[in-house]
Amino acid sequence: MSKVTVKIPTPLRGFAEGASEVSLDGRTVGDLVHRLAETHPGLQRHLYTADGHLRSFVTVYLNDEDIRYLERESTPVKEGDVLSIVPAIAGGTLSRSRSPAGVVRLQPAERAPTFTPEELRRYSRHLLLPEVGVAGQKRLRESKVLVVGAGGLGAPTSLYLAAAGVGEIGLVDFDAIEVSNLQRQVLYTTADVGRPKLDAAKSRLEALNPGTRVVPIAERLSAANALETLRPYDLVIDGTDNFPTRYLVNDASVLLGKPNVYGSIYRFEGQVSVFDARHGPCYRCLYPEPPPPDLVPSCAEGGVLGVLPGVVGVLQATEAIKVLLGIGESLVGRLVLYDALALRFREVKLRKNPKCVLCSPHATQKGLIDYAAFCGVPGASGVDAASEVPEISPPALQAELSGADPPMLVDVREPTEWAISRIPGAVLIPKGEIADRVDELTRARSLVLYCRTGRRSADAAKLLRDLGFQHVRNLKGGINAWSEEVDPSVVRY
Ligand SMILES: [Zn+2]
Repeated sequence: MSKVTVKIPTPLRGFAEGASEVSLDGRTVGDLVHRLAETHPGLQRHLYTADGHLRSFVTVYLNDEDIRYLERESTPVKEGDVLSIVPAIAGGTLSRSRSPAGVVRLQPAERAPTFTPEELRRYSRHLLLPEVGVAGQKRLRESKVLVVGAGGLGAPTSLYLAAAGVGEIGLVDFDAIEVSNLQRQVLYTTADVGRPKLDAAKSRLEALNPGTRVVPIAERLSAANALETLRPYDLVIDGTDNFPTRYLVNDASVLLGKPNVYGSIYRFEGQVSVFDARHGPCYRCLYPEPPPPDLVPSCAEGGVLGVLPGVVGVLQATEAIKVLLGIGESLVGRLVLYDALALRFREVKLRKNPKCVLCSPHATQKGLIDYAAFCGVPGASGVDAASEVPEISPPALQAELSGADPPMLVDVREPTEWAISRIPGAVLIPKGEIADRVDELTRARSLVLYCRTGRRSADAAKLLRDLGFQHVRNLKGGINAWSEEVDPSVVRY
């Protein structure tokens, strides 16, 4: 038996009484993961499938090696080893021409027109660096970068890419700016609230550097438009916050042979890598399948430290600039894990999956697919809990609550959300505790469940119906819709 440190990532700590690491005894990786699930039973369903296999979106590293490339769960461990569990979270050397691997091919810089005196002054700190110089700065001016998502990650990456003199930045987003964005999306100001993100981003970035052309792409990236959208760009920055778009960006980048600079954030933790299937693994090599949609909360539900996307986005911008210039050692084949609470960076090796459905020689996937269905997103075929549970609109609920036989109102959000806003008369039972607290609910009485937007409460309502509760309904649109349609004094977030 050897004593091994097992690191628990932030998304799973809630199921491990908040522990960030535990010390466990075992002979193999399999022993340790089993012991971890025994010690913290809440982790069982996150780590294992119903038939006892490790879930495919949970990757396990022994020190800095992926166990899939060792002896998997039979890999022996020794005293002092560190086992890290790295789950998918939602929210891509190259020396100059001598080593062409990964270098983006651009027009020969020499043919570009020379810089104006203003440009020479603007970029003087770059021009002084032998690794950049006039030739490198021209490369940046001729390069085109697509930033997918103008949110927490897209804000710092696009600001630094514009400041650095990247010639064209395409920005994909279709949201309007909300006041809750301002805590981290430093592209926008309070006066911008309500404006389309792309309008505000374009004026901000072009004010920063009139030499950068900002191309707004106000569309949801989809299998129908992704290849055409990505094609004109030299590299892609993945600043998305959901799994369907992440897989879509990965797949389109692989099919087009473009580097994909990946970043993702969750609460206090971030991940960064560069996926370039021509020279290393892709996102699917790391995570062949997404987690089920109810297992990993989004930033809107789980929260995120405002400066976290700043750090991760700046690392993405750094990698993008290095790849464009063909300097330094890129993150191809490495995943950097950043823990803001401990202020610690760790690094693990990424390998190309020899069976990757997309980027291996045996690839079976030759085009784009239906990503909502692949990721089991509510609303995609066959997985929509909301369609199985009756809904009630906010005004109808208001009428019933003031009637003779009001329903019991159950808030299934987290206590941190309850502290922000609540509907008067509700009781708080977080979704994860529902199954253990059914005796607090009355089967005879009518129940209405709500969460922030209606998605989590639909899942919880379905669970209660499966447990035999007959009179369960879901508040359509959640507490945010209640605020909009019934009581504006309830805070929307
Ligand atoms: Zn792959």
